[in-house]
Amino acid sequence: MDGYDSGAVQRAVQEWIAREREGDQPVVVDITTGTKAMSLGLARAARHGGACATYQLPRDRAVVCLTHGRRELEGRARIDWSLVLSGYAPLTVPLAEVVTGPARDQVDVELLDLAATALGAAASGTTGVWWDVSLADEEGFLTAQERPGLVLTFDDRAVGLAAPARRRRRTADGPLRDVSPGAWAQSVFAATTHLNVRCDVAGTVVALTRPGRDVSRAGELVDWIAQPAPDRAPGLRFGDPLYPLVVEVDPENGADSSGTLTTDASRL
Ligand SMILES: [Zn+2]
Repeated sequence: MDGYDSGAVQRAVQEWIAREREGDQPVVVDITTGTKAMSLGLARAARHGGACATYQLPRDRAVVCLTHGRRELEGRARIDWSLVLSGYAPLTVPLAEVVTGPARDQVDVELLDLAATALGAAASGTTGVWWDVSLADEEGFLTAQERPGLVLTFDDRAVGLAAPARRRRRTADGPLRDVSPGAWAQSVFAATTHLNVRCDVAGTVVALTRPGRDVSRAGELVDWIAQPAPDRAPGLRFGDPLYPLVVEVDPENGADSSGTLTTDASRL
């Protein structure tokens, strides 16, 4: 049928629901499928059959029913992250073991591994680790600084770790060049947008940098680009997905001065 004709969708689905409900079988219809007209047709058909039409608010995890109102969700949604994180693959070893050659200079692999280990250790729940597979592509790695190198998943939330290098290449065999604080901040913002397209309010980005290298200037520029709300609470949090958190990590001991990497992300 025409997916843009919500009336046609409603009629077809009403018939389908009536058939499936023979013998009082419960029917669950995913009203988030397909076009907006399809969603509307599916929701109308479900309500015509006396069902609740509900949706979940990802920001505060509440479930809203059109008939019965809002209920807080107990527990957390299970996300099939493989459907969400296109361009990423599960990682079971340190990133340094799968990223080789000049790609090692494009993003700070050492900081990414340190931060992932720290956040994983601090989490009270299970952590999923996903890596940007373009880091293993002989051309694709050249834009890897524009994406989170790693994405850690905590139930229904995702933390992107971005660590654009301070010296990097423009071509695969070209020389390493210094990156200005402005260009570094732009890469961080690009990585933030990249995760936002996939996760919206369920995602947040932590940008990692080594101490000393013009950190405060880069942080100011990230603030200038991202324009955080004036009353934004400090530290790792969700709900403000276009604001990346800049964290200084000492590669000697993995310590971060802000305490961000010792946050229990499973509780956020
Ligand atoms: Zn209901």
